[in-house]
Amino acid sequence: MDNKFDILFEPVKIGPVTAPNRFFQVPHCNGMGYRMPKALVEMRRIKAEGGWGVVCTEEVEIHHSSDLSPNIEGRIWDDKDIPALELMVDSVHQHGALAGIELTYGGHHASNLYSRSVSLGPRSLGVDGYHPGQTRRMDKEDIRDIRKWHRAAAVRAKKAGFDIIYCYAGHNLALAMHFLLPRYNDRTDEYGGSLENRTRFLRELIEDTKDAVGDTCAVAVRLAVDELLGDDGISHQGEGHDIVSMLAELPDLWDVNISGWSHDSATARFEREGYQEKYIKFTKSLTSKPVVGVGRYTTPDAMLRAVQNGIVDLIGAARPSIADPFLPNKIREDRIEDIRECIGCNICASADELGVPIRCTQNPTMGEEWRRGWHPEIIHPKKKNKDILIIGGGPAGLESARALGARGYQVALLDARRELGGRVVLESVLPGLIEWRRVVDWRLTQIEKMDNVSLYPGSPMTAEDILEAGYAHIILATGAEWRKDGVGRNQWKPIKGHNLPHVFTPDDLMAGKIPDGNVLIYDNDHYYMGSVLAELLLQQGCQVTFVTPAPLVAYWSQYTLEQEKIQRRLMKSDVKIFTQQILEEIHPEKVTLTDSVSGEAIEVNADIVVLITDRLPNDELYQALKHALKNSDIQSLCVIGDAEAPNTIAQAVFSGHLTAQEFGEIPVSDTPFKIERAQV
Ligand code: ADP
Ligand code: SF4
Repeated sequence: MDNKFDILFEPVKIGPVTAPNRFFQVPHCNGMGYRMPKALVEMRRIKAEGGWGVVCTEEVEIHHSSDLSPNIEGRIWDDKDIPALELMVDSVHQHGALAGIELTYGGHHASNLYSRSVSLGPRSLGVDGYHPGQTRRMDKEDIRDIRKWHRAAAVRAKKAGFDIIYCYAGHNLALAMHFLLPRYNDRTDEYGGSLENRTRFLRELIEDTKDAVGDTCAVAVRLAVDELLGDDGISHQGEGHDIVSMLAELPDLWDVNISGWSHDSATARFEREGYQEKYIKFTKSLTSKPVVGVGRYTTPDAMLRAVQNGIVDLIGAARPSIADPFLPNKIREDRIEDIRECIGCNICASADELGVPIRCTQNPTMGEEWRRGWHPEIIHPKKKNKDILIIGGGPAGLESARALGARGYQVALLDARRELGGRVVLESVLPGLIEWRRVVDWRLTQIEKMDNVSLYPGSPMTAEDILEAGYAHIILATGAEWRKDGVGRNQWKPIKGHNLPHVFTPDDLMAGKIPDGNVLIYDNDHYYMGSVLAELLLQQGCQVTFVTPAPLVAYWSQYTLEQEKIQRRLMKSDVKIFTQQILEEIHPEKVTLTDSVSGEAIEVNADIVVLITDRLPNDELYQALKHALKNSDIQSLCVIGDAEAPNTIAQAVFSGHLTAQEFGEIPVSDTPFKIERAQV
């Protein structure tokens, strides 16, 4: 069949190897790394199964003095690391894809907290992450050593079977990039000063790698071509351009992107699909070698344009491949509507930041492939016929209905509201969150294809209604509501004055009750809601004051790489910010705050107060139906998602999926997933 996207399925020659198509899973972290190799292998294998022509590792440390702990990345310190990597390569080869490895030496990005080695840098420099300690200024022998270690790692990678071996100079996370930057490199020898000198170390790494393994392996360079720092950093009109020009034909593949990671993996709140094109498009004019670039490409039209417009040869993707490991196959099979598009929330990145297995809002099977045996496209069929009633069509209820439907069960899903989607529908119209709607849209599209799942919006249900409906199996996904009394994680008593008429919650605002005047947001939630509502209120012409007990605005969003961007946006909009302040009391036109450290009280004017504190699970139906279960009027009852325990949308989707996977199966008394235990 003729497919207008055929061009995306053309093979691409990369040095001595050939990628079977243009879908290139660029290196991405995953929180499993060297510590959970089996989990990692299965996650990568499934990407190759789903049609990605190239599947890469995450950053892989080449030496114990480049130990990136507490983050869990890959390791190729010595020969004993080869077998785990070999498993990954074999699993990827099994599906005809190429395997790539991103070798890295972290420089001042390597904390070495585990190895207790000294980090090395072009000069003595404070280690990233505000860890106490500095790097040692490298002498010529150190430079020779690192070149030797890199070469040895490349040889090991070749032994493991990798097809593409990276020299990494991106994200401000790698020594080869640190050498490029005058702000880190003040050397007066042949490795410092002129751009040619600062590029010498990267050039040598590429030459060494080509010399060691270039006969059978392609050598790729990942280079940050713009840091979005103007003249203070690498830029695509300045040194980024010049570095590519100087090294143009040396590597077999250019992987170009913007730096740091928060820019490269910008969330949907800040950037749209294809956002890196303007920075990277110069690359192809300087080299005959293939170019790969990212930009959260989730739609085949945008991918096609990027190739046809000569911006890239290969479509790089981390997040789109996480949200949908089968994205390439779906394009090939002309099943575009089945693509589970990434929503750009960076919950995946948070897992790496927190050192736990990767997860994804859209794809609940991500990170669970090995330990729970989950697959993004295949689910085990039901063993017996059972009819299931689900109440609540938010992310938990919809995912549960979809996955139970895929297992073959008869499912009826009811929701009080006329529009299905629960919190996602309400939140996705808030500033910057429109792509989050994809969580609902994808599930509704899938459910529409199922004869065995019926949806009944506009159906508010009581416990009596539910029992009358006569279903034996009930799943309650009834969500949660924001608390009106200000009780929150570090405030266990209602805030005085919370019941005054000028006190609002996010639910009020999302219901369209928008106040005017001077609004004070009290954010004891610490993720996106506070700052998103601040943006909404600013758009409505309010003056906004932002108060949080945390030391930073939207504290948790540092794990989704958004914190600085969020705080900067509020500061630029003249939002008055008070951090480490506890809202003590609300008065008619002002509030009393106390400093969480000194205890000192201050008063701040506020016409309106918005309390973003804890949420209360809507579990009344669950409590009311428990006796029916006891009396055997129904056979099973469970409460899932926010109705069980309020959490992220990702967790609600996961909860819905877990419930569907476990439904009708024999409960296990042990830990319900496999664990990779340390060998003793
Ligand atoms: P979650 O994130 O856990 O999926 P949401 O709050 O997004 O939860 O969705 C819960 C959904 O449940 C909402 O759409 C709400 O209208 C619906 N709901 C809650 N209680 C009832 C009820 N008694 N009858 C029908 N629908 C309900
Ligand atoms: Fe995309 Fe969010 Fe999934 Fe990451 S967690 S892949 S950003 S949907």
